[in-house]
Amino acid sequence: MHRLRHPLSLLLIALLVMVGVLRSYSSPQPVGADAPDVVFSAVRAEAILNGLLKENVPHVSGSPFNTVVRNRVVAHLESSGYEAQYQSRFHCNPEFGSCSPVDNIIAVKPGSEGKHAVLITAHYDSGWAGPGAADDGAGTSAILEIARMAADFPPFKNDIIFLLSDSEENGLLGADAFAEHHPLFGKVKAVINLEARGVTGPSAMFETGEGNRSIIRMFSKSVDRPVANSLIYEIYKTMPNDTDYSVYKRKGVMGVNFAFAQGVPVYHSAIDDIDHLDLGSLQHHGDNSWGMLKALGERNIGAITSREDAGYVDIFANRLVHYPVSITGGVALFLGVLVMIAIFIAFRREFRFRQLRWGLLAIPFLLISIAAGGYLLSWPLGHWPDLHPLEHPYPWVGRLAIFLMLALAGYSTLKLFSGRVSACAWMILAWGIIFTLGMTLTSKLPSASHIALLPLGMFALGSVADLLRKKSPAPLLLASLLGFATATFISFYHFFMLDVVMNFDQSHVKAVMFWLMALTVMPMLLAFVKDRELNWQPARWLLVAILALCVLHLFLPGYTAERPRAMTLMYSEVEGEDTGYIVLESVYKRHDKKYARVHAFEMAELNSGRLGTVNRPVRKVSPLGLQGISLEDLGSRQEEGGYTRDIKLDLPEKTPMLRLTIPLDVELSKAWVNGELALDTSIETKHRRGNYRLQLINAGSGPVNIRLQSGSADAYTIAAVTWHELPAILVSPFMGNWPQDAQPFGYGPRAEKIQEFTLQ
Ligand SMILES: [Zn+2]
Repeated sequence: MHRLRHPLSLLLIALLVMVGVLRSYSSPQPVGADAPDVVFSAVRAEAILNGLLKENVPHVSGSPFNTVVRNRVVAHLESSGYEAQYQSRFHCNPEFGSCSPVDNIIAVKPGSEGKHAVLITAHYDSGWAGPGAADDGAGTSAILEIARMAADFPPFKNDIIFLLSDSEENGLLGADAFAEHHPLFGKVKAVINLEARGVTGPSAMFETGEGNRSIIRMFSKSVDRPVANSLIYEIYKTMPNDTDYSVYKRKGVMGVNFAFAQGVPVYHSAIDDIDHLDLGSLQHHGDNSWGMLKALGERNIGAITSREDAGYVDIFANRLVHYPVSITGGVALFLGVLVMIAIFIAFRREFRFRQLRWGLLAIPFLLISIAAGGYLLSWPLGHWPDLHPLEHPYPWVGRLAIFLMLALAGYSTLKLFSGRVSACAWMILAWGIIFTLGMTLTSKLPSASHIALLPLGMFALGSVADLLRKKSPAPLLLASLLGFATATFISFYHFFMLDVVMNFDQSHVKAVMFWLMALTVMPMLLAFVKDRELNWQPARWLLVAILALCVLHLFLPGYTAERPRAMTLMYSEVEGEDTGYIVLESVYKRHDKKYARVHAFEMAELNSGRLGTVNRPVRKVSPLGLQGISLEDLGSRQEEGGYTRDIKLDLPEKTPMLRLTIPLDVELSKAWVNGELALDTSIETKHRRGNYRLQLINAGSGPVNIRLQSGSADAYTIAAVTWHELPAILVSPFMGNWPQDAQPFGYGPRAEKIQEFTLQ
């Protein structure tokens, strides 16, 4: 039997792999301002960002502060020697039913051939609650620094278009305006987009266009610190998230989309400011996009789209392993058969079929214990404490609890099945499962095949060396070690990946990531304990340690000043009602209960402004009598394609937002705002529609003409919400003991007027 000196060496391998994997989840050191000017420096980019966001306030598109930021962006481009141009229009993106003024800023570095163009882009507008230093000030300042660097370079083959887009936050409006109306878009064959969904972490390449084989190869060669995993891309495709690149991708343009995504609680919050931005993330953004820009600038990008996709994963942010998906089926079959043959040769003398019986019990026992252990842990680690739904500020205690739970599940399996299951039987079954997983992935999700193919490949490689060695100390030891190390890599990579998509309330999902590692480590452990007597004492100690960690975890805050809970004070009133409400708004109802109690907020059912109701903690006040819209229904008439209804409405002075909600049973097909197509429900969207929505952001005041085309002639009720500035005097009594760990988020503080109109 093959044997290790001591299983501690396996622990050491696992720890080393984990440290390596953590490099894929960290950002590089920022480069100082004294670096040569052809090197991207995050410190220089930060200085640019400091200038752009001097006032440290939100600057939604169409707001006066966004004009200030816009002028500063233009001044930067001009000081680098570019002629900056504007693309200004009132634009609607019919996918989202959203309209706002758009001021895109464009600069071009002409290429020596200039037949095609590379578009490098980030949005300079912010969300409603914060200044948007990370989202997307980081991208904006990185591009301004890169534009400065590129200016001194001799021309690339292709044109380089720098686009600082506007109004991304309101529904990708700037990008849509550029793609639909700007003459330069026709030249664009490749896009580099910079985004953020947090304030720290690596700038990961998380999305490309269809047929990415060629650009992935280029990415692997052009970037020093690649962080990318095609499984993330597959997951992202199913998420309701969008970036400017969604617009270009839909038009079939190839691209690479970079974002950092750690520190999620700060994203779209009031403290997405420069103090909370990780300069390492900014550095990584710059290094990635500068590397890609130089490569794409020189490349014949007319043929950048390949016939097929690639699967890929980075190894310790050092190297990108990538493969065309078309070969995965053949490779999986080849490796799987090789692994099975190797195991057969190694164990041909001692193997008996009946050995497999206990293995068929032991393997499910281990896998189910891991999932069940994770499920049990999800209560003390995730359900009882007050946690952000996605990310924990102090994750290591919870992680350690999960690791010890894995050890407990593994030890219990050894104790129960040692002597019954041979290492050889386990090895056959475990690698058979991984082989099956590989075959399934290659047909269902080929770009994620590396999850199984990498461990299979390393095991196969090791087994060749093992079988060639004359006097092997133990059959397939090297194969087992390599297979285990690679499976551990896959396990840790995906375990940490889940940290920014789910918290410890989903610990079972996090634990399941270690199935691969557990499957591959057991044969070596079984061989080690074969002739030893195991007792339950170590299991008891593990259990005590896990419980202690769970208790410790309960004392760790789920929110901190640096990773705050989302909590906004806003005001809401409905026309015709004699009560107004100060509302404590919080994502996922994670408001501070003590604060709500101290200020006597009570749960109440409110008009949501979306033709429904919501339950929120509120304080009742007498209504402010905010000005809403006035609406004139000009009636509907039957036309080709359905019923067309014209509405004329008057916007109150300076309202930053008007949102109309129209019920689904109206069967709306299209809507126009002042003659511009604003909503087209036939456009496929990643978002689920509860109602139809039309929103006008910073659209000025006065009359607006709206035309609705629907399939139904029945009368229906629509809701209109208009925003106003929140009167400071209204909320100042509640600001005195505002919790340290809470910050406005999303739409931020505002006063809402809700009206409902029945259209006959
Ligand atoms: Zn953004």
